[in-house]
Amino acid sequence: MQFEFTEEQLMIRQAARDFAQTELKPGVIERDEHQKFPAEQIKKLGELGFLGMMVSPQYGGSGMDAISYVLVMEELSKVDASASVVVSVNNSLVCYGLEKYGSEAQKQKYLVPLAKGEVIGAFCLSEPEAGSDATSQRTTAIDMGDYYLVNGTKNWITNGNSASTYIVMAQTDASKKHHGINALIMEKGMEGFTIGPKENKMGIRGSDTHSLMFTDVKVPKENRIGDEGFGFKFAMSTLEGGRIGIAAQALGIASGAYELAVQYAKERKAFGKTIADLQAIQFKLADMATEIEAARLLCLKAAWLKDHGKSYTQAGSMAKLFASEVAMRTTVEAVQIHGGYGFVKEYHVERLMRDAKITQIYEGTSEIQRIVISRGVLK
Ligand SMILES: Cc1cc2nc3c(=O)[nH]c(=O)nc-3n(C[C@H](O)[C@H](O)[C@H](O)COP(=O)(O)OP(=O)(O)OC[C@H]3O[C@@H](n4cnc5c(N)ncnc54)[C@H](O)[C@@H]3O)c2cc1C
Repeated sequence: MQFEFTEEQLMIRQAARDFAQTELKPGVIERDEHQKFPAEQIKKLGELGFLGMMVSPQYGGSGMDAISYVLVMEELSKVDASASVVVSVNNSLVCYGLEKYGSEAQKQKYLVPLAKGEVIGAFCLSEPEAGSDATSQRTTAIDMGDYYLVNGTKNWITNGNSASTYIVMAQTDASKKHHGINALIMEKGMEGFTIGPKENKMGIRGSDTHSLMFTDVKVPKENRIGDEGFGFKFAMSTLEGGRIGIAAQALGIASGAYELAVQYAKERKAFGKTIADLQAIQFKLADMATEIEAARLLCLKAAWLKDHGKSYTQAGSMAKLFASEVAMRTTVEAVQIHGGYGFVKEYHVERLMRDAKITQIYEGTSEIQRIVISRGVLK
């Protein structure tokens, strides 16, 4: 076994760490408060090659491995999970699927600008009546010969208003159930495509979450990804990689809160000594450190399996399940260690606690991850 990072991986981690401190940290509280999308910061992340990290340079990407992706996601998420979710969605749910399953023409037209960070993408599976049960797609894509006529509503779409390219799952042949679902590339501005108001969220408030409405949108046949009826498989395959990104996001939220708690414990005095001298606080920090390290190893293992072309379905779900639960526990304890100061915005930990919650919900809830893991256990 090899527990060391390469020089390149360490450099990428350092670049992400520096970016998080210099570009994301200033203004993160204000963006959270006002639900402001980190547009400038995302543009710069694109220029650094972080929006198409694993895409081959042939298609405008950085050609990095999934281990580097985990390192970058952890560092960015320590400071701003609203920015890191954009990185995760663009890399895992949009670029990955287009590179793996898209046609050459789709790659040239859509993947190249996405991988270069010139535009960002969105992945549109969830609907008002189809969340965990993603097979119940009500959005329809009727085959009209040389185009599909799309009608329906998508819910909770990350980058909903900021994206230019949308990958939309829709039902073409209901008699075939999920084998009748297609994945279609749609563009902002297509006639009949409207964007609902921004959701007012508990956490990742800087991210741009909207519902999308489609009324008789004409999507050319050449915008279908893969064969007829491949859409559900496409969605499940991209979500598998997405879980590594969200697991690393949860890891970053946990380690960000932990680092703040360690620093605060060394500074805050009570009863004539620092609170870090109190065994009650030391034990909390020890538990946090141990759980975070375990979460990190699960994330890295899933990424390593992906990099080596091995199955990472179960490993990705384990990483997401565990890291998201560690993120919740760690952030709650980080607030506790900060006492009253943890309850106000200036100290960052309350935001991290609110941000942690979403990692147990999106890209498959913790319950859904347990279903995936137990399937592997029992097969
Ligand atoms: C901020 C945010 C951003 C999001 N971004 C996107 C996006 O970009 N694209 C996209 O497509 N979706 C996105 N989602 C949607 C997200 O993936 C869904 O919310 C999630 O999959 C859960 O679906 P649901 O909300 O319909 O909950 P439900 O599926 O209704 O689940 C409700 C509860 O029932 C449990 N449950 C459901 N089925 C089972 C089962 N079989 N066994 C045990 N428990 C079960 C769930 O775990 C949960 O606790 C986002 C959501 C949010 C909140």
